[in-house]
Amino acid sequence: MKAMGFPSIYKQSSGLMDELGDHLKQFGKRPLLVMDEFINGVYGEKLIRSLKENGIEAVDFIFKGEVSNSEIERIISTSKDKACDCVVGVGGGKVQDVSKSVKLNTDIPLIIVPTVASNDAATSRLIITYSEDGEFVGPKFLSTNPDAVLVDSSIIAKAPVRFLVAGIGDALATYYEANQCILSGANNFFGGKSTEAAYALANLARDLIVNNAQNAIESVNKMEVSEALEKVIEANVLLSGLGFEGCGVAAAHAISQGFTLIKELNGYLHGEEVAVGLVSQWFLENKDQKMIEEMLAFFDAIELPFCLADLGLSDPTQEELQTIANYACRDNSRIYNMSIEVTPQKVIKALSDANQIASSYRNRRNH
Ligand SMILES: [Zn+2]
Repeated sequence: MKAMGFPSIYKQSSGLMDELGDHLKQFGKRPLLVMDEFINGVYGEKLIRSLKENGIEAVDFIFKGEVSNSEIERIISTSKDKACDCVVGVGGGKVQDVSKSVKLNTDIPLIIVPTVASNDAATSRLIITYSEDGEFVGPKFLSTNPDAVLVDSSIIAKAPVRFLVAGIGDALATYYEANQCILSGANNFFGGKSTEAAYALANLARDLIVNNAQNAIESVNKMEVSEALEKVIEANVLLSGLGFEGCGVAAAHAISQGFTLIKELNGYLHGEEVAVGLVSQWFLENKDQKMIEEMLAFFDAIELPFCLADLGLSDPTQEELQTIANYACRDNSRIYNMSIEVTPQKVIKALSDANQIASSYRNRRNH
């Protein structure tokens, strides 16, 4: 069986947030508007006013801290107590995930409004949950994808460029992980095989990024929207989202999850960690050296991390490498979606090789 899923509606335009009321009215009259304190401070008042103009009385919910059981309980009870008829998550990954948990528990329509393009979670059914202390607990799944994903490209253009670059790392990995899942015959996130459509979208995400990333980054540095930026946003948010969920993930994501166990590697963005995982995946696959060097030059040009040293671990101990590799190779890890046999030893070698080639690449370039 082949399977894939989609959000019911995807919209992307500059200034979309100013007309949010117009885009929301088909879903309800009393949305639970979920934001963190920062987004509430910047956009909250303006948003609530624009919704009112469209006859929509929003209930605001300020997300605090972590997508943990207590925060999930707090948001669900707010939604029920205030009789909200849809939930709108305005923000990054965690605000999106806590908003998804409302749909999971109450089945009211879910609208995601990403304010950064730093990963590809917005279109997916996946919810990543954490303990109260921020430790990774595991995924939950909605029965369907979000009802709408509404992207205001002018807001993405005003967010720090690091977010867009991280999203590029996540979206590039989608294509290379999709390849491995298809070669190995692994199941995707719908328990089926990849459709031709999902694979084509993963491939398109990669092409759009390679051809437009540099111009898109220039636009964000000027806080301007451009055609290149619109293409990269679509690649990071829509195409990568449909691609990863519809094809599956492999070593790049599995290895990056191991980084969370090493203190020095904490505090990086998901897409930055996945980018380093992706380079290690290429070493596991024994990819052609020339291809790797070309991609490293691209990573370098857009300042996307490509080795542990870039994430602050320039001289990893054997023990640290072993910890990462053991976690990446735990039971049921998606690393076994690779088409080749993977062992902790091979992961350690891939991580070390990546560190080595990266430093020799940079030495050569600097001379
Ligand atoms: Zn990802």
